[in-house]
Parts: sequence; structure tokens; C-alpha cells
Amino acid sequence: MRSLSIENDDSIEVARETGFEQCVFSLRRTLATSPIGWVLVAWFSWDRVSHTHIGLWLIAFVLTWALSLGMLQLLIRQGPTTGRHASIFLVIAGLDGAAWGLVVWLLMGYDTNLDPWLAATLCGVGAVNAPAYITYIRAYYAQIGSLWLVAMLALIFSSNLVNMLNTAVGLSVFFALIVYYMQAIAQRVLEGIRLQLANTSLAEQLRIALQLVEVDAATDPLTGQVNRRGLDVFLKQQFEMAQKEARPFAVLMLDIDYFKQVNDTYGHVVGDDTLRAFAFRVRNYLRQGDVCARYGGEEFVVVLPDTSLDMAIEVAERVRQGIAESDLLTVPPLKATVSIGVATYVAGQTAEELLSAADAAVYSAKRGGRNQVRSSAD
Ligand code: GH3
Ligand code: MG
Ligand code: MG
Repeated sequence: MRSLSIENDDSIEVARETGFEQCVFSLRRTLATSPIGWVLVAWFSWDRVSHTHIGLWLIAFVLTWALSLGMLQLLIRQGPTTGRHASIFLVIAGLDGAAWGLVVWLLMGYDTNLDPWLAATLCGVGAVNAPAYITYIRAYYAQIGSLWLVAMLALIFSSNLVNMLNTAVGLSVFFALIVYYMQAIAQRVLEGIRLQLANTSLAEQLRIALQLVEVDAATDPLTGQVNRRGLDVFLKQQFEMAQKEARPFAVLMLDIDYFKQVNDTYGHVVGDDTLRAFAFRVRNYLRQGDVCARYGGEEFVVVLPDTSLDMAIEVAERVRQGIAESDLLTVPPLKATVSIGVATYVAGQTAEELLSAADAAVYSAKRGGRNQVRSSAD
């Protein structure tokens, strides 16, 4: 199996897009619950930190939060197709991280009892956001990266160095560990999504292949028309419909006249071309829902759904004339005629009986001199 790289792999990109919905859903939840975190932080800091700082931090967070919500709405409307979605996730995550980082900047370094609690809260923020960005791990890195960076800046400008150093070391170790774990987990998740996609696509390919096999099994390879097997299936459906809904339907049996002479005179290759041209010509006289099947060597059966005997005779006559009128092949120039037997479904009849009735009508047409239409009613 090919090894997976999170950064450069087309199928990983596809998997990531599949993870889009997941990320949007988690992000919505994270943004919705974020104010609970601010309230807690503000509440615990209230008596220990200047209210101006708390207010500044809250304003910064509300602004960031509103901007993130706006961008998320935009993302939901545009979907993952724009290609910019990964960068937008990155910006939302980065802003959120920076706003949390301001906790160190504005609220820490004033109270030694409060600081560890705030540091633990920041570690919690890092942990809580990890699952939200599991399919966009770079956005997660942007979040804890910006949190860490803002926190470190606070350290540089801090007057309470010892306390701030503890915070910096604690956050750095915790974030380093979480990044280490998340990278492995994210890779697994993406791999899982990719396998799922591969399975879906394989199932689709199999379904299409099966359909092709089914079509192939019901098709005559020489003429491209339905074969005997396909005819049986179609006839069965027509019988069921005729029995249930009292719908008439008709069959035409067509037998090319003196076809043996074509083979004897021009050879089998020309004979085959003639059969193809014959089937193609017949199809031109039929409607969309009619079926033309190759029944045997030079015999075809046409099924005409919703068709009375009179209408079926008309169609048969049109086909007969059309075949007789012009050459079937141009090289060599070859004309042919066809004898057609027509039969309609009679209640209680089996498929064999219906085809036998049409066959008897063909026989009658042959005896009558060929190139003619006869029906089972004649
Ligand atoms: P009729 O007017 O009585 O129907 O005479 P016919 O010559 O058409 O009838 P017959 O049944 O004697 O001959 C049918 C011929 O069709 C015999 C066979 O060689 C030919 N045939 C059957 N299948 C194929 C095929 O797939 N390709 C070719 N080239 N010929 C075929
Ligand atoms: Mg025949
Ligand atoms: Mg024949």
C-alpha cells in the first residue's frame, strides 16, 4: 500500500473535502460554546484582574468570534468547491487561537492563584479544538500556533518573569505533545475517509460493470438488437401488464425471404452485413418503446406494446414496404424482401402460444408467395 502524506496526495485532498461537512459542523459547535469559556474566564478573573483588561479581552474575543461566525456562514454557503475553504478554516482557527492567547497578555501575571487555572484553561482550549480540525489539521496548527505565539509575546513583555516562564513552558510542552498525537490521529482519520471513498467508488464501478454485463447478456452481438433472452424478459413484462391492466400488445415475426441465396451468392460476410442493415432499417419504423429482437438466424421478432391487431398490421405493412423499396446494401447492391406474421395477445395465452401464432402467420405469408404480411386472424 502506498504511504500516505497528509500534505501532498490528491485522494487526501478529496478526503479532506469529504471532511469539510464534519469540520463545519464541529466548528459551529465550538463557536457556539465558546462564550461559555469567556464567561468562566471573566468570572474567575473578576476580583483579581483589572476590569479594563477583562473588558478589553472580551471585546477582542467578541470581535474575533463575530468575524469567525461570518466567515463560517460564507463557507457554508460556498461549500468546499471554491478551493479557498482550507485557508478560511486556517484564518478562523488562527483568530480564535490569538484571542485565547490574549488571556496570557491581558489576564495573567496578576494573581499567582489565578494563573495556573488560566494556563489549564488554555490547555483545555487546545484539547477541545483538536477534534474540530481533525480533517484540517493545518488549521489546528494555526490555532495553537497563534495562541502560543501571543502567549510568548506576553512573556517577553512581562514583569512577572518566573510566573510567565512557568506558563510558557507548560503551554509549550502541552501543545508539543498534542500536536504529536494529533498528527498521527489526523492521518488515520483521513486514511479512513479515503478508504471509505475508495469503497464507494468500487461499489459504483461494480454496479456499472454489472449493468453492462446484463445489457451484454441480452444483446445480439451481430445486429446490436435484443437477443432471445432479452426478448423473453420483455415478453414476460408485457404479459404481466396485459394480465393486470388489460393492455393489448402485438408481436410481429419477420423472416427474410430467400436469405440463404444471399449467403450462397455473396458469402457469409455480406450475409452478416445484410442482417445488420435489415435490423437497422426495421428499427427506423418502430417507436421508442417497441422492441426488435433477433429471434434466430434471419428471423426477428418485434414487440409492439399498447398496440391493437389493426395497428400492428399497419406497422408490419410499413416495414415490409420499406424493406422492399430500396437496397439494403449498396456494396454489393442488394435488395431483400421480408415475410411478416402478426399476432396479438389473447387472454390466457402463453408466450410460446403467442409466438407460435405469429410463426404460423409467417408460414402462411411464405406460402402465399413471400413479401407479404399475414396475421393470426387471417
Ligand atoms: P425463406 O424465404 O423460406 O425464409 O428462405 P430462406 O433462405 O431465408 O430460409 P432458410 O431457413 O432456408 O435459410 C436461412 C438462412 O439464413 C440459412 C443460414 O445460412 C442463414 N443464416 C442464419 N443465421 C445467419 C447468420 O448469422 N449470418 C449469415 N450470414 N447467415 C445466417
Ligand atoms: Mg427462417
Ligand atoms: Mg428466411
